[in-house]
Amino acid sequence: MKIKEIIKRLKEGNKRFISNTADRKLRDSTRRDLLAAGQSPFAAILGCSDSRVVPEIIFDTGLGELFTVRVAGNIANTSSIASIEFSVAQLNVRLVLVKGHSNCGAVTAAVEGGVYGNNLNRLFNHIAPAIEQTPGGNIDEIIKKNAELNAEELLNGSTMIAAAVKSGQLKIITAFYHLESGEVEFLTD
Ligand SMILES: [Zn+2]
Repeated sequence: MKIKEIIKRLKEGNKRFISNTADRKLRDSTRRDLLAAGQSPFAAILGCSDSRVVPEIIFDTGLGELFTVRVAGNIANTSSIASIEFSVAQLNVRLVLVKGHSNCGAVTAAVEGGVYGNNLNRLFNHIAPAIEQTPGGNIDEIIKKNAELNAEELLNGSTMIAAAVKSGQLKIITAFYHLESGEVEFLTD
């Protein structure tokens, strides 16, 4: 599938979700049987773990359609980068969408500071550059910057992903999900 068509498919699925006309296809036993031997997802998503931001629901996709990597604050760390690498190298995924969302608890906590354990502090370290590079910015602007910087980090942290983008096999784009309306606002495409 061409990258343009992949983006179109995501946008159309999100429109159905917004308007309560989701078709919820490819979620039955026929689909399950078909996929038992292998998968061929049409896109990869690096999104937040937030329970309100479920890629398969907001893009109205079925089983085997999205390769989703979810981590609080949709950050690119060793594990999430490796997971995206797997989708590109083994499953020939051609589009990666890094998706932030309004009212993100992880980004808000990183902005507010506070005392946390080592693991969460390590996670917040991946969000810190977005805060630093958005002086005076509101939380939505920081969340959007965070998506952009972690998309860049996928490139900086992986020679394999960088090579796939350079060759035109792979495209990385960013988006911002609005909790209230259900709209996925594409920041780049
Ligand atoms: Zn979040």
